Amino acid sequence: MYSSNYDVLFEPIRIGPVTAKNRFYQTPHANGMGYNMPNSSAAYREMKAEGGWGVVSVEYCSIHETSDDGPCAYQALWDGNDVKALAQTAEGIHRHDALAAIELWHGGLKSNNRFTRVPTMSPSGHMTGYLHTASVSRAMTKKDIRDLRRWQVDAALRAKQAGYDIIYVYAGHEFLPVQFLSKKYNQRTDEYGGSLTNRVRLLREMIEDTREAVGDSCAVAVRLGVHGFAHPVIGTEGGYEDREVIEMLAELPDLWDVNFAGSHNGNDSCSARFSNEGYQESFIDFVKSTTSKPVVGVGRFTSPDTMAGQIRRGVIDIIGAARPTIADPFLPNKIREGREDEIRECIGCNICRSANNEALPLRCTQNPTIGEEWRRGWHPEKFPQASEPESVLVVGGGPAGLECALTLGRMGHHVTLAEAGEELGGRLLKEAKLPGLSSWIRVVDYRATLLKRMPNVEIYYDSQLSAEDIIEFGFSHVVLATGSQWRADGVGFSNKRPIEINPDARVLTPADCMNDADVQGDVVIFDDDHYYMGGCLAEKYMNAGHSVTLVTPATSVSEWTALTDEQWFVQTKLLQSGVNIITTQQLTKVEAKTLELACVYSGKSQTLSFDTLILATARMPKNELFEQLTQPEQEQRFESIRCIGDCEAPGAVVDAVHSGHRFARLFGREQTHTVSFKREQIILETINI
Ligand code: ADP
Ligand code: SF4
Repeated sequence: MYSSNYDVLFEPIRIGPVTAKNRFYQTPHANGMGYNMPNSSAAYREMKAEGGWGVVSVEYCSIHETSDDGPCAYQALWDGNDVKALAQTAEGIHRHDALAAIELWHGGLKSNNRFTRVPTMSPSGHMTGYLHTASVSRAMTKKDIRDLRRWQVDAALRAKQAGYDIIYVYAGHEFLPVQFLSKKYNQRTDEYGGSLTNRVRLLREMIEDTREAVGDSCAVAVRLGVHGFAHPVIGTEGGYEDREVIEMLAELPDLWDVNFAGSHNGNDSCSARFSNEGYQESFIDFVKSTTSKPVVGVGRFTSPDTMAGQIRRGVIDIIGAARPTIADPFLPNKIREGREDEIRECIGCNICRSANNEALPLRCTQNPTIGEEWRRGWHPEKFPQASEPESVLVVGGGPAGLECALTLGRMGHHVTLAEAGEELGGRLLKEAKLPGLSSWIRVVDYRATLLKRMPNVEIYYDSQLSAEDIIEFGFSHVVLATGSQWRADGVGFSNKRPIEINPDARVLTPADCMNDADVQGDVVIFDDDHYYMGGCLAEKYMNAGHSVTLVTPATSVSEWTALTDEQWFVQTKLLQSGVNIITTQQLTKVEAKTLELACVYSGKSQTLSFDTLILATARMPKNELFEQLTQPEQEQRFESIRCIGDCEAPGAVVDAVHSGHRFARLFGREQTHTVSFKREQIILETINI
């Protein structure tokens, strides 16, 4: 039973004609599956409902072919087949006594329409698309506006037919209704442009139309991205009109779902590196005083105390969440059952954002089962029980070893986990001390806490095992999760061969830096890794008072973080803190005190002096044990011996966790198919091969 401190989280709340059973609301968010993966999508949303979320929303759902976000995955309600697919999702959500919500969407000039190939539309005919095609959207005529209103109504009726309880008018993320609200996009001279009353007109009409069409039995929600539509120019102070908009429409919808959108992707789901839990409060706390309708807000909430506090303090009525539902679909049930210490807390790494940005099904660092509900049948809390438990030795207590040991343990196997160090955590023990990454230690905390309670798991610390030790122990199943090490020879993403390095040069790897090596004088970081390491080390040494230059062959700093919606924040922070940034330069040679760089386009060379050079490049697997133990004379001693995580192939923490989990789930199961998961394929009637 839950603590009385959290009573408020379990109070039902009326939303127009429907009632949510509690205050846990999975707000609309893309999952990289969209209408092409109806089974995966349905299973994904149902899992949230099973985990106790009172409302589960489907992501942006196109109301018409003039709004197409390909190659990203989105939902659509264009015809009866879409109704059928989305009904499957609503049914799954209803099976667990939750309400199903759907976010009807028209992107205006922010759609790409690469798939449908019809022109985009916007209030005043500006250039179009997130992908910056060289095309201009069509300025909407009055007929277009009438059509748009009809499409919204038709889609709302289809959503109702599909069984949805809450139907959105979506005015967030600079999509079409926001483009009408915004002075930046709306330069119309008719009754839809000019004054705020005119710019609000379309949104007002869409809310009224939707209510008239479905409001008898469905709640009408508005998602509004605040601080997002009144900025004529980035950096202009003030001029926000969100309060006025909400005041003008205050009582029209049944629910306000508000978030901080701002002028940059990544504001609304800002990573932990650049925001704290509850970071949206100061942007949205005015909303409740302007309306009597329930207000949903987000803020990467993972602590039940923070959540209950938000409601008690009157900031919001309902706890909205996207990432916390991904990291732990069972968060509400765990709070209800008094198991808060078992919550798999979101670490705010935004790997989930990267999956969606790559148009792929979600992946999550904390929760390896996300996106795998249908295709692999993985459940985040239920594990197939071993009919004949095996004894397994797992070597290495980093993310891969921890996840593997935990999952094998949950499946009922007898697990021995041996870790060379004094603590569990592997690379994260040091990496979580880098600037902005402290929440990443939750990956370790969650697993270590549960592992230490399991009677069928034994943990040995200070146990650097050799091949002889492992042979002597006599386990028939051995899993090696011994990690990786940073290269010191310059080989990275773009440098495929070692570079010439003068032995007198002071050259460090990220591992040296995290082990507090003596860094002297002017620091140059060569970043050919392109994720967080180069940027974090630059920040670390700026904070320590060094002069820092970051050199990268890419066109921007920490280029891969564009996919986690962090790149803009990383580069801004480094520039503001005085880091000297040199882009598009390859490192070609290292002398004792100087470097040679070459432009990746022209080859033109330049020289740079340094005192300490840090190579944030590639890592190599630490797989010596595996090589020794799989010599022909040794391998026969084991029924199975495998490498997982970084010692198989160094990658991000998300890959190590998934690798550990995947190994455990497949352990002892004979693989009968070439592909270990199901795909949503159209099955052809005849195949002649
Ligand atoms: P991954 O991300 O794949 O989990 P890490 O580098 O984070 O990899 O973790 C690897 C862990 O394995 C580290 O904690 C390290 O101390 C441990 N380890 C490496 N070699 C051995 C060994 N021979 N015996 C026991 N533990 C080891
Ligand atoms: Fe949170 Fe990272 Fe998982 Fe996204 S990928 S839900 S940010 S832990």
